[in-house]
Amino acid sequence: MEFRFDPLRRYWVVISPKRAWRPNDFETQHRDIGDPAACPFCEGNEAETPPEVLAVRPDGSAPDGPGWSVRVVPNLFPAFIGEPGADPRPPGAYRAAPARGYHEVIIEHTRHDTELADYSAEHALLVLRALRERVRAIARDSAVRDLLLFRNTGPRAGASLRHPHTQLVAMHEVPRTIETELAGIREHRRATGRCLLCDLAAVEMQEGTRVLERAGSFASYLPYAGRIPCEIFVAPVAHPPPFADLSDADLADFSALLLGAIRRLRGAFRDPPYNFLLHALVRSDELPDGHHWRAEILPRRGQFGGFELGTGMFINSLPPEEAVLRLRAAAP
Ligand SMILES: [Zn+2]
Ligand SMILES: [Zn+2]
Repeated sequence: MEFRFDPLRRYWVVISPKRAWRPNDFETQHRDIGDPAACPFCEGNEAETPPEVLAVRPDGSAPDGPGWSVRVVPNLFPAFIGEPGADPRPPGAYRAAPARGYHEVIIEHTRHDTELADYSAEHALLVLRALRERVRAIARDSAVRDLLLFRNTGPRAGASLRHPHTQLVAMHEVPRTIETELAGIREHRRATGRCLLCDLAAVEMQEGTRVLERAGSFASYLPYAGRIPCEIFVAPVAHPPPFADLSDADLADFSALLLGAIRRLRGAFRDPPYNFLLHALVRSDELPDGHHWRAEILPRRGQFGGFELGTGMFINSLPPEEAVLRLRAAAP
């Protein structure tokens, strides 16, 4: 298992071999474990996961048994491991790095067949507090330069297990998506002396035509150049403290906007599959306060085609100014 860097296209790839590659492995596979008895994330099946690193246990029950309401475990099939694995001398112009970092699973609920959109405000806050606690713990490792929380909801969004869960990956490399953002932030700072992310949030709030909802220091809005129909940001409207340092009151505002956006999406578009992304920690030597953490909700219609892969461009067939009207009309 290792990271390899493509010097031409400037991105890192995780080479993570699996044992048996079969001829039909390019076909779409949905592993929906319908039977909770066979689900490693269901209450009672705790022995099927690695030992928990965090659990909310209202009744004070013992670790790695029933009685939890949110449970965090290392991923049984990690894309990143703690041990060096790379060949220190890759051939020619190539660059490689050991796949060091963290890969954890936040099991959000004891119920197998519930969904984020159905959580109570209290339960959503419990989940977010568990995420904050893990981000805080991993942030102590100064080698970590990027921490991404992500959620795949529905097989078409890449979910392989139905049981509601979020994944956490933290790595020593800065992924290209973030490297590109940091370059934009640097350029804007040089030209104007200001923070690009603060300026963009201010434009969105002032314009208002793509704003879905506001709560406290946060807003949900559809970005001006959203890549796909109904791409939604849930983000701070001013330069934020690190995600790890958010207060409970801030988390509650953020949580309300997140639940609202997902419920509206479900109401307006018949429960679409979606990815949820949250870059909760970005470390940059040049821009110590340069980045804002931000959540993105990306509904999925299908696979990306040749145009998207060949150009890195997206064709969005529903302008964000129209999409937001449909979301506003749906019940939160
Ligand atoms: Zn389950
Ligand atoms: Zn800012």
